[in-house]
Amino acid sequence: MTPRCLCILGATGSIGESTLDVVRRHPERFQVYALSAHSRMERLAELAAQTGAKLVAVPDDAARLRFIAAWPASGIPLPEILLGPEALEACASADQVDTVMAAIVGAAGLPSALAAARAGKRVLLANKEALVAAGGLFMQAVRDTGAELLPIDSEHNAIFQCLPQTDKAFAPHMPAPGVRRLLLTASGGPFRTLPIEQLAQVTPDQACAHPNWEMGRKISVDSATMLNKGLEVIEAHWLFAMPPDRIQVVIHPQSMVHSMVEYDDGSILAQLGQPDMRTPIAYGLGFPERIDSGVGLLDLATLGRLDFEPPDLQRFPCLALSFQALRSGQDACIVLNAANEVAVAGFLAQRLPFTGITRCIEESLSHFQSRAHPVDALDAILDLDAQVRRYVAGRAGR
Ligand code: NAD
Ligand code: MG
Repeated sequence: MTPRCLCILGATGSIGESTLDVVRRHPERFQVYALSAHSRMERLAELAAQTGAKLVAVPDDAARLRFIAAWPASGIPLPEILLGPEALEACASADQVDTVMAAIVGAAGLPSALAAARAGKRVLLANKEALVAAGGLFMQAVRDTGAELLPIDSEHNAIFQCLPQTDKAFAPHMPAPGVRRLLLTASGGPFRTLPIEQLAQVTPDQACAHPNWEMGRKISVDSATMLNKGLEVIEAHWLFAMPPDRIQVVIHPQSMVHSMVEYDDGSILAQLGQPDMRTPIAYGLGFPERIDSGVGLLDLATLGRLDFEPPDLQRFPCLALSFQALRSGQDACIVLNAANEVAVAGFLAQRLPFTGITRCIEESLSHFQSRAHPVDALDAILDLDAQVRRYVAGRAGR
């Protein structure tokens, strides 16, 4: 078989490393052509040398020098090194590449994920912020080029697996026939049972100590506020052409049921498995075949029980704000996402209390509400995103 030729954007992150772990198990199926990282150049150099990547994208000249200094002097030729945000788009659309893992965190991953879709690649989409900020534009690009879009976020991957089966991924215009609702499961994060009055004092390390998943710090904080689930509702809306009132969030503390699809005849189909991102990653890499992911099986008898409960919107106001933004339109989703990114960075740097994240999002949604922003093109989206970042940065220290 001809191996798939991969570009992994965000190779040094949690999803990037898990992707490389699956790839290493199948040397005959996959080869790595391009890798990117924004920091940790030593790790990027190690990964590029191990995989034989021909191209790497790094942020600037200082990073390039660190990459070269870290290169193992073992006779392996250095890869070509590209600099800056445009380098990410060049890697994603390189002719040699047929499959792109979009695993950069935040809206910073949007232009390169979009470039992959515009170049008609198989796009393994972990970067949910790309769909939150630019769902309409992104899905249209997938339709226009016939790119193959496979969701990697575990909930959306589960839903994709539970929808009527197809061996070609596509971007639907309407909900799949017979489907009544999508049921997105959520663990409830580390603060599901903490007394609400203690939320203002929680530390970044407490917020990042997720009970079931090991992830990057930004998405870990998003899980603690449950804004992550809100972003995922918006993501599901775009991926599956599902109206907001047909997407329901269910708390499921064990994180073994990754999400469900409810059909008109009363059937509910669920996908279960260990909470390990290598399962959805392997699904996307191998699609439509199933390949080994390195993840152990789920022993239901040992597990004993699976619990479900409705989300508490008082504790998790970010979930309600996300539904509100989705109903309001694309510009509100851009505001929600950008305000959250700046606020989470402020919380992680200990400039803002945990409860300040919700406050920043609320203030931004109301501040930008009445302005008319045409957000149908990438430039307009990035422009509004930058305006919101400036607005929140001026307030996040209060
Ligand atoms: P992470 O912080 O562990 O890794 C992020 C990667 O992106 C790193 O390689 C980093 O160098 C790079 N990066 C950061 N800022 C960048 C910038 N401005 N420009 C270019 N590259 C940049 O994040 P993660 O947990 O791997 O998450 C990546 C994406 O996948 C996020 O969108 C997240 O929501 C999504 N996701 C992650 C998980 C998970 O289990 N970690 C699950 C579902 C979805
Ligand atoms: Mg998820």
